[in-house]
Amino acid sequence: MSKPILGIIGGGQLGSMLAIAANKLEIKTIIFCDDVDAPAQNFSNGFVHGQYNDLTKIKEFVNQVDIITYEFENIPYATLNEINKIKPVLPKPSVNRIIQHRLAEKDFINNLNIRTTQYVSIEKKSEIDSVKDLLPGLLKTVTLGYDGKGQYPITKLSNLETFDIDYSKGYILEKLVKLKKEISIVVTRFGPQQYSIYEPIENVHEDQILINSIIPAKITDKIFNQSKIWSTQIAEELKYIGTLCVEFFIDRNENLYVNEIAPRVHNSGHLTINAYNISQFENHIRAVCKLEQVPLKKLSNARMTNIIGEQIINFRNKEYSENEFFFDYLKKEIKDKRKMGHLTTLIS
Ligand code: ADP
Ligand code: MG
Repeated sequence: MSKPILGIIGGGQLGSMLAIAANKLEIKTIIFCDDVDAPAQNFSNGFVHGQYNDLTKIKEFVNQVDIITYEFENIPYATLNEINKIKPVLPKPSVNRIIQHRLAEKDFINNLNIRTTQYVSIEKKSEIDSVKDLLPGLLKTVTLGYDGKGQYPITKLSNLETFDIDYSKGYILEKLVKLKKEISIVVTRFGPQQYSIYEPIENVHEDQILINSIIPAKITDKIFNQSKIWSTQIAEELKYIGTLCVEFFIDRNENLYVNEIAPRVHNSGHLTINAYNISQFENHIRAVCKLEQVPLKKLSNARMTNIIGEQIINFRNKEYSENEFFFDYLKKEIKDKRKMGHLTTLIS
């Protein structure tokens, strides 16, 4: 059977790394992105520029490919659904509909009897008055947030006066978990009960942005096992095909909570490129293109550091040793708080 041509919606660093993994497997890729400078076009076989709701442009893209996947979850559901009528979209659009909405996502997780932090939907400012027991908390937009964008820390009700909050957007108020640690699990599901699962990754955030990811995570056996069980349960329930990531909180009493699900490859999994025989990106391509599932083998422990904003300038001029792997995302513009690259160091 000839290999399919893969369409990838989204052309940032995740799209780039997916295209690089596809090249290795001799799978051709076409990128669709709303940014004319999308870095992933440097690594793909074709590029279509258009808005995510421009169905004419989308069709031009879909005509060139056999299967469609995506690098981020905020693509309009209507767009994914339209595409899925013509060619297969994996993971399927219904997964995105749940996960791109923080309330639907948390309801879904709780219905599986998996713990999340306490939360409530907020549609008007006056509703916050009645949920004082969720304070201190974080008020988050229900859609379109990432890297801490659209999040407001609320310790007491008077904090609300200091933010300029547009309540027409729809919010969730989450109780703040007293964090001991954050971990994530990256898992690729190939089919019913067929998984490649990476070991838990320990994550350090600053200002709600991921800074470091490390394996092995320093966690108890109980958390190690529970996080894996919950992750596969979530993937199974979603009938997911491809790579997904589950982000977890561990509180000071060693309770495990699911924070959120990313229906895609994930920043914390970048270390799998160098620390495993098969990366999260390659596994995603293998699963959505129905290629062989190769048993996972860990090659080394590792630490990944995100390079944010101006830091990239220093990293571009550095020399690296054999155990260091620098990735420049080739973004045209350096912006404050923007992820510009990462460095993975293999450690013993
Ligand atoms: P994003 O979509 O921006 O990744 P998250 O909900 O994962 O949003 O929040 C980003 C980070 O903010 C988390 O990784 C964590 O460090 C912190 N955070 C978010 N929600 C909570 C919470 N309820 N309790 C404690 N920390 C939180
Ligand atoms: Mg997150």
